Amino acid sequence: PALISCRDVTKTYVMGTQKVHALRGVNVDFHRGEMTAIMGPSGSGKSTLMNLIGALDVPTSGTLEINGRNLATLKPNDLADLRNETIGFVFQQFNLLGRSSALTNVKLPLRYSRKPLSDIDARAAECLKMVGLGDRMDHRPMQLSGGQQQRVAIARALAGSPSIILADEPTGALDTKTSEEIMALLTGLGESGITVIIVTHEPEVAEYAARQIHFRDGQIERDERAKP
Ligand code: ADP
Ligand code: ADP
Repeated sequence: PALISCRDVTKTYVMGTQKVHALRGVNVDFHRGEMTAIMGPSGSGKSTLMNLIGALDVPTSGTLEINGRNLATLKPNDLADLRNETIGFVFQQFNLLGRSSALTNVKLPLRYSRKPLSDIDARAAECLKMVGLGDRMDHRPMQLSGGQQQRVAIARALAGSPSIILADEPTGALDTKTSEEIMALLTGLGESGITVIIVTHEPEVAEYAARQIHFRDGQIERDERAKP
């Protein structure tokens, strides 16, 4: 069974008397360890889909299942648990706390965990080592390059041992060489069994993904897998 399953998903935003049909009947499955790039023009529904998969918003109609659980049937607390335990988020602008060390930033998603503090520290340090920043744990974001800041953000996304990483334009603020390093890191996560979904405008970035989905006007226009 698919890790993420979208069946006839629609999303309509109502603004006063206006309706925006952001997603118009999307059917798509994502499997374990699969890395997918979502592409398409601005306004085509990419971020809306990411928000739905990330359990940050609910579809207007249709069903979205993660691990066989229909998100519409979950209570707010269970939805929050699913988000914390299953999904890691990565953003274009890194979204780090500027006054806090790399280690503190990575510990953030673990702050409500019931684990002992020493375990939380160890897990955060382990995640920073996984992204190659074992020697930068006490640095604040301003003391790190853009690529290093995005690594901290990826370590933070990994802290809760998610099965899904959602990355919205993860290389949008990075130069070409740094983008390649970040994509190599995300590709490695896919190979370790994490399902990685990235939104990108850059074809060179999308090339890292084994699967490319192109959106247009709230629908999937093309869904292609690279030949092995
Ligand atoms: P993309 O990520 O492909 O640029 P989005 O999913 O952000 O596209 O947007 C799809 C459509 O939905 C656009 O027309 C956008 O203006 C609209 N939209 C997105 N979020 C909201 C919102 N919170 N309220 C109203 N309209 C929205
Ligand atoms: P890159 O060449 O990878 O883009 P930078 O030239 O920005 O990186 O930084 C090189 C190294 O210097 C990095 O390892 C970073 O940790 C460190 N560094 C960058 N800016 C600062 C700063 N303001 N204070 C302390 N260390 C910094």
